[in-house]
Amino acid sequence: MPDTARAGSSRSILIADGPRAAAARTPDKLAIKEGERQLTFRQLAERIDRIANLAHSGLGLRHGERVAILLPNRLEYLELVCGLSSAGLAAATIGPAASGPEIRFICEDSGARVMFVDPALADAARAAVPPTMERVIVLGPEYEDLLARAATTQCPVSVDERDIFSVPYTSGATGRPKGVMLSHRGRVLSAYCMAVEHACYTADDRAIATTPMFHGAGFLMALTPIFFGGSVEILPRFDIERLLDAITSFGATSSYMVPTHFAALFALGEKAARYDMRRVKAIISGTAPLAQAMKERIIAYFGEGKLWERYGTTETSIATCLRPADQLRKLACVGLPLPATHLRVLGDDGAEVPQGEVGELAVASPYMFSGYLNLPEATAKAWKGDWFVTGDLARVDEEGYVYLVDRKNDMIISGGENVYPREVEEVLLAHPAVAECAVTAAPHPYWGEAVTAFVVLHAGQDVTVEALEEACRARLSRYKVPKDIRIIPALPRNSMGKVLRRALRDQLRAEAKP
Ligand code: AMP
Repeated sequence: MPDTARAGSSRSILIADGPRAAAARTPDKLAIKEGERQLTFRQLAERIDRIANLAHSGLGLRHGERVAILLPNRLEYLELVCGLSSAGLAAATIGPAASGPEIRFICEDSGARVMFVDPALADAARAAVPPTMERVIVLGPEYEDLLARAATTQCPVSVDERDIFSVPYTSGATGRPKGVMLSHRGRVLSAYCMAVEHACYTADDRAIATTPMFHGAGFLMALTPIFFGGSVEILPRFDIERLLDAITSFGATSSYMVPTHFAALFALGEKAARYDMRRVKAIISGTAPLAQAMKERIIAYFGEGKLWERYGTTETSIATCLRPADQLRKLACVGLPLPATHLRVLGDDGAEVPQGEVGELAVASPYMFSGYLNLPEATAKAWKGDWFVTGDLARVDEEGYVYLVDRKNDMIISGGENVYPREVEEVLLAHPAVAECAVTAAPHPYWGEAVTAFVVLHAGQDVTVEALEEACRARLSRYKVPKDIRIIPALPRNSMGKVLRRALRDQLRAEAKP
């Protein structure tokens, strides 16, 4: 084959290729907005080049290294990750609420020599970083000055699509946080898949990104709109009224929301009716279970044909998706596998279970992670050949739709019977007084584990524990009915809005100790 043909067919696709191409097509179009600050595609592409050159020539960072990023959602997030990865560097992303030891851990584990930090977090970062950190660059004047002095020519590093562009850290509910290595190829293919599936990421579309960008999903939801030449407004943190204001004033055609965001929406009561949602084409929910009762309210609020629910993990990216037409037809379901995604449901022996039975979900697709940083054993354990074993229990119906039963580790064994917390939560959430709930296990001398529910009520609502028990008894087998229901003001959650069931379980264990 002549060399020219090979060069043409083997060109890698990188996450910065989308915004760069958009800069050539529509240079003066708005790419990113955050508050009063804005970047056109021309400005964005130029800044991406400057960052790549700053990292490579100015800071002397080399292909394959990691750079720490400690930022809330802000305008510079996308340019930094795109720019660094154009120089073959991966962003080790740290959440803005990380503690000193967490910051230090990620810096040490990633081996980062340079960190980019938000001005409000600079002191905390300097106090936390290990001695191996050579430079902490604060966004604002210091960063702008460095960029102004960097070249705008294309960075000379040759980057491959299988190179790692970011390393978000999993929450580390069990053991130490794991750095999930994400490749350009996996993320770009995920973006294409989202665009095809949701049909809301054309150059004419506009999205709001409000979930934290240090997470794999949060970053993808901010990158995808600009990858295809559309515009994105970044919200620094979640606030339901700001989100609804932004959707209407920015003319957004889509937004990604997590289940707690919807709970906040409906807690607004009549105020929610003030907003005109007619331009919205897609409301996408993911990250945590979306109760069926909530889906019905979302459809009533945003209109039919707009709600998508997705399931995935940091490692797999998006694996399944429930389309709008199926929302009320397939109850408590996360839909069908995405294009080019294969699923298996495995029994304890690692073999596939018969269709319809519950087992552990394994996923194979081109969107997946490339292993855990510095953890070859954990990486080997997570993969069975090409298949990533998720730790989620699921079943698949006769039409191939996936139902997530629960996390394998969250299953409760009470009197020898398996209880999946989610099933009990769905029943409690269907009660009109219940806004949120989490079900977990308390140690119990007779039952082994006792099903225990923590319930948050809608503001102004009152209900007795007996009435909630009665609602459970009406719909659940006796052994699944919570032995203890506690009404509390709020549930513990992580920054993506996931309920920390394990924190509640630990609390119950501590209470049970003599
Ligand atoms: P993370 O890697 O932090 O994004 O967490 C991934 C986990 O979130 C999955 O293994 C699931 O347990 C859970 N999850 C993600 N999406 C959904 C969903 N749509 N419904 C229920 N659980 C979900």
